Amino acid sequence: MRDDELTRLLNLDGVVVEGFGEETTTELHLAVRPALDTPRCRTCGQGCLLVHSTHSRKVRHLDVFGRRSWLDFDSRMVDCMTCGLGAEALSFVEPGKRTSVAFRRWVGGLCAILPNKDVAEHVHVAEDTVRAIDKEFLKREYPPSNLSNLRTIAIDEIAYQKGHKYLTVVLDYDTGEVIWTGEGRREATVAKFFEFIGSAATARIEYVSMDMAAPFINAVTAACPTAAIVFDRFHVAKHMNEAVNDTRKLTMANADKDVRKVVKGKRFVLLRRGERLTPRQQTRLDELLALNTDLAKAYLMKEDFQQFWTSSSEAVAAVFIDRWIVEAKESGIAPMARVARMLDSHRSGLLAYHRNAISNGPLEGLNLKINVLRRSRYGFRDLEYFGLKIRQLSIRRSRRRDQTYPLVETEPEAAPR
Ligand SMILES: [Zn+2]
Repeated sequence: MRDDELTRLLNLDGVVVEGFGEETTTELHLAVRPALDTPRCRTCGQGCLLVHSTHSRKVRHLDVFGRRSWLDFDSRMVDCMTCGLGAEALSFVEPGKRTSVAFRRWVGGLCAILPNKDVAEHVHVAEDTVRAIDKEFLKREYPPSNLSNLRTIAIDEIAYQKGHKYLTVVLDYDTGEVIWTGEGRREATVAKFFEFIGSAATARIEYVSMDMAAPFINAVTAACPTAAIVFDRFHVAKHMNEAVNDTRKLTMANADKDVRKVVKGKRFVLLRRGERLTPRQQTRLDELLALNTDLAKAYLMKEDFQQFWTSSSEAVAAVFIDRWIVEAKESGIAPMARVARMLDSHRSGLLAYHRNAISNGPLEGLNLKINVLRRSRYGFRDLEYFGLKIRQLSIRRSRRRDQTYPLVETEPEAAPR
C-alpha cells in the first residue's frame, strides 16, 4: 500500500503517514510526520523557522482493523520569535500526552456506557489512566450550562457512600440537565450552588421543587425569596409510606396472634399504590382492611391523599388538605398525626403544586442510574469526577429522548450447527 493511501486511511488532518513501523499480530506502529514542513508555535500559532530540538514520541492511537496502533513521530521544539522556546502545535496530540486526541475521545465515549474497569481491560490501558482521560473528556464535552434560561430547578440529595455521605444535586427542570452537585446536604451546601450560578441567575429562578427539608427551604428562601417552593410529591409519598409502615410495626407489636397472622408479610401491598395492585394482592389487602385496625385506617388515609394531587384547582386542594390534616390529627394514630403536622406546616408549598405541577420525578429517574454508576465504581472517592459523571448521565438522558439509532442491519438468529 502506498504511503498516500495510508495517509488517507489514517484520516488525521495535517498528518502524513510515512510507512509501517514495528508490527505484531496484535499491534501496529505507523511512522507519521506533520504535513507542514515548517512547524507552528503552540502558543501563538505562527510558523517557526528555528527548530530548537527534536525528540521521538510514540502515542497510542485508535485500533486499526483489530490491531492496537501507535503513531511514531519526531516532535519538534520550536524557538518562536514571540514566545521563545516551546512545543510545536500538533492537531492530533497534546503536549506531554501518551495517547492521541482521537484515542482519548474514544475512551471517553466508552466510559459513558461502561464501567472504567471494563474500558481499561478492553483498550489495554491502566484504570487510573482511563479515569484521568474520562475526567478530562467530561470537562471538555460538558462545559457548564448556559444559565440565562434557568427558571425552574429541582434540588435533591443522593447518598454516595455508606455511612450517610450525601451529595446535593441541582437539576434544570426545563432541560433535564444536572447543573450542579456539591458535597453534603446542609443549608451551606445549597448556598454554594447559588454562589456558583451568581446573583443574576439566582434572581431569575421562579420555581424550586424539593423535599420538605429545613436546610433546603432555608437556603432557597435566603437566596431567592421571590421563588415559589413546590414540595415534591414523591417525597410526600415517601413520608406517607413511612408513616403507614410505622403504623404497621405498632400494630404488629400490640396485636394478638390472629391479627398478627393477617398483618404479617403485607408490607408490600400496604406501600404499593392501591390502583397498581394485582387482583391477588388486592385480596390479601382486603383481608387486612377487614380487621379495621389502625393500620387499615392509616392505609386508607394514605390512599385518600392521592386526591390532593388530582384536585381540580388549588382551592379544591386547599379544602381537601385541611380536612385530611384534621382527620389524621384526630385519628389517634401517632405516625399519621405526625405526617399531618408536617403537611400542615408546609401547606403553602404543597398547594403550590397546583400552580406549577413540577416534581423531583426527573431526578428520581436519574437516581436509579446514579446508583448503578456508584456501585460499578466503588463509591467514587473523587467527588468532582462523580459530579461530572452525574451531569453526563443527565445530559445524555435528555438528549436521547428524541434520538433513534438506525441499525445497519438486524442480525438474524444464529442457526444451530
Ligand atoms: Zn509563539
